[in-house]
Amino acid sequence: MKKLSVSTFVRGNKDLIKAINRNLILNTVRRHGALSRTQLTEISRLSVGAVSQITQELIREAWLLEGGEGDYTGGRRQTLLRLNPDAGCAVGLKLMEHRIVCALTDLEAKVLLYKDLPMPMDRDPAVIAAALSEAVEATVSASGVERQKLLGVGVGVAGVMYPQQGIVHYSPYLDWRDVPLAELMRVRLRLPVYIENDVNTLTLSEQLFGAGRHVESFVVVTIGRGIGMGLVINHQLYQGAKGGMGEFGHITFDAAGPVCTCGKRGCLEAFAADPAVVAFVRHSRSAEDAPRTIDDVVALADAGDTLANAALRRSGEILGIGLSTIVNLLCPSLIILSGEGVSAGDYRLVPMMDALRAHVFNGLLDDVRLIVEETDDHAWARGAASLVIGKLFESPLIEAGIAL
Ligand SMILES: [Zn+2]
Repeated sequence: MKKLSVSTFVRGNKDLIKAINRNLILNTVRRHGALSRTQLTEISRLSVGAVSQITQELIREAWLLEGGEGDYTGGRRQTLLRLNPDAGCAVGLKLMEHRIVCALTDLEAKVLLYKDLPMPMDRDPAVIAAALSEAVEATVSASGVERQKLLGVGVGVAGVMYPQQGIVHYSPYLDWRDVPLAELMRVRLRLPVYIENDVNTLTLSEQLFGAGRHVESFVVVTIGRGIGMGLVINHQLYQGAKGGMGEFGHITFDAAGPVCTCGKRGCLEAFAADPAVVAFVRHSRSAEDAPRTIDDVVALADAGDTLANAALRRSGEILGIGLSTIVNLLCPSLIILSGEGVSAGDYRLVPMMDALRAHVFNGLLDDVRLIVEETDDHAWARGAASLVIGKLFESPLIEAGIAL
């Protein structure tokens, strides 16, 4: 066995400390947008020498750009440093129920090219992996971006993922169990492929470039086809034991309630997600004018349909009760409510807020900020691309196996 000498140990720690400091500089610039070296030194609390050396390296490697001037400091203007969005590209894919959405983004998750492709009818993992890989190739070749600029591919899937192993542990829509999707795609694409629960990908993009950028701990709740949740604690995405965290839509609301997509009874989602609202209104109408989507239900409510209004209100109330449980358990400083179902607007959101206030533990809501963001397909694909981009900003302690 090879023995580690004292000098090897010290050397290893020096490399790790340097990697941590590089990571700190990159993340500080990402959070603040553009900073002078003086501001970077103040915020990062690194020495002037360390900031000077690391920024020089990062500029040479094209991760940072110099440009623009900040405020006068000590009689002269300081050049600002910012992330170089063109230092690389990422591809994000989201598996929808019947479609694949795919986006090529720069390093600030700005969409450079977007494609929306049909999902194969065949749910065989090899067929789906081939279709996803073809979607990546088609998007990259249409963009004209050089392949060597591609840092990797991120895939967002609804269900329980094992991200470390690249395995879809359980996907209710695809009816998959323990499918090694990342490996199936990696051998085709010869690129790093990362998979993650779809709501976690949205959470990551909020953390990197969205409302969660300056927040230490926050929650993302999505409402739409299902109800999902992502959680960041102390700047880290919380993934649970292996990856199965955030099945907020499947907490039991009423054990004697309707059957859920997961096969169990009475989940929050079976009462309050969009399909439950649509189904409730459909039953009361003839086949010709029955609503098919949540937008149809909203249009009926706009036209004065009291049943459509009541269905949306009930969905909001139940969602609000669910949110009160999140606040009672976690009391996050920020909750971001997003997903396609947000488009139901005040019909759902006003009763949701009323129910949240009514059911939360006294005083807890005072410290919680709740913001509502509409989510479209682009946002899901950007989220998946953020999986790749996030690797650039990930703490080296995680790679070293030291982080919790
Ligand atoms: Zn369920």
